Amino acid sequence: EQLANQIAAGEVVERPASIVKELVENAIDAGSTTIDITVEEGGLTSITVIDNGSGIHEADIPQAFLRHATSKITTSSDLFRIASLGFRGEALPSIAAVSRIELVSSDNNDGIGTVIAVEGGHITRVERCNAPLGTRIVVKDIFYNTPARLKYMKSVQTEIGHIADYINRIALAHPAISISLKHNGNAILQTIGSGDRLQVIAAVYGRNTAKAMQEISAEDADYTIRGFVSRPELNRSNRNGITVIVNGRYIRSFAINQVLVTAYHTFLPIHRFPLAVIELEMHPTLLDVNVHPSKMEVRFSKEQELKQLLEKTVRAALQSERY
Ligand code: ADP
Ligand code: MG
Repeated sequence: EQLANQIAAGEVVERPASIVKELVENAIDAGSTTIDITVEEGGLTSITVIDNGSGIHEADIPQAFLRHATSKITTSSDLFRIASLGFRGEALPSIAAVSRIELVSSDNNDGIGTVIAVEGGHITRVERCNAPLGTRIVVKDIFYNTPARLKYMKSVQTEIGHIADYINRIALAHPAISISLKHNGNAILQTIGSGDRLQVIAAVYGRNTAKAMQEISAEDADYTIRGFVSRPELNRSNRNGITVIVNGRYIRSFAINQVLVTAYHTFLPIHRFPLAVIELEMHPTLLDVNVHPSKMEVRFSKEQELKQLLEKTVRAALQSERY
C-alpha cells in the first residue's frame, strides 16, 4: 500500500513544479481570487500555497488525502466541459506519499478551521485551529522517503525555473486572480488580479515588452481568438514566449506554435521567435485532450480552419499601421 502510493505518486509528482501545479490548480478550482506561492530552495525544501477560496469542509479534510476518494471530475472528456481543473482525485494523496504536508483550511468565516499533518502518506495530526476562509498548504521535504527520486532532482535554479515558468503562464491564463510567487524571500511575480491581461504581460515580461505587444481578436462560427502578439523586433531565441490558453486553461499546442512561427516567418530572422499570448475559445467537442497528468496537450478537430484563422489574424496585425 505504501509502495503502491509511492509508485502512483511518481506519475503526479515528477518534480517540485508538478506539486506547485496541482496545488495551484486546486486553489483555482476553489474559486480563489488571491493565490500566494512561497518556495524555498527550488521547492525541494518547501512549497507553500495560500488561497482565499472556498476551503474544505472539516469532515472532508482527511478524505482529501485518500486515493481516489474525491474527484471533482470523473472522466477526461469532462475536462473542458466544466470549469474545474482537477480530474483525478489523486494529487493530494500522491504528494502526501512523498513529503511532509501541513494543511489548514476553513470553509466559512467563523475564524475556525482544521489543521491536518500528513507524513509519507500517514495522517499524524488532525485538530481544530484558528483559520481564515480558504486553504493554506505547506509541502516540505519532497522525496525525503524516496532517496532514489531525490537524486534525480536538478539544481535549485532549474527547479525554480520550471516553477516560475508554470506560474507565469497560469497568471497569463487567469488575469482576474491576484497571484504572487516568492523564492527564497525574493519576489518573482506579483499580479494584481485586475482582469487586464496586458497588465499580467507587464508583470511577467516587463512594461516595455507589454508596450510592444499588439492586441489581436477574431472569430468565426467555431473559434474565438483573442490575445497579444509581439512586434517583430521583440523576438526571442526560442518558442517559450508563446503561451496558449484554451477555454481558460493553459495548454501546449504544437499546431498553434507552428502557426505563429509561420506567420512571423517573413518578419523575423532565422531562429528567432515571437512572444505571444493566444487565448482560444471553442465548443469542448472541438477538442481532443491528452490527459497525461504532467502536461496538457490538446488537438483541435477542425485544425486547418483554426490555423488559417489564426495565421490570417496574426499576419494582419503584423502588417497593420502600428508597425
Ligand atoms: P482533485 O483536484 O482531482 O479533486 P486533489 O487530490 O487535487 O483532487 O484534491 C482533493 C480534494 O481536496 C479536492 O477535490 C477538493 O475538494 C479538496 N481541495 C484540495 N485543495 C483545495 C483547496 N485549495 N481549496 C479547496 N478545496 C481543496
Ligand atoms: Mg487537484
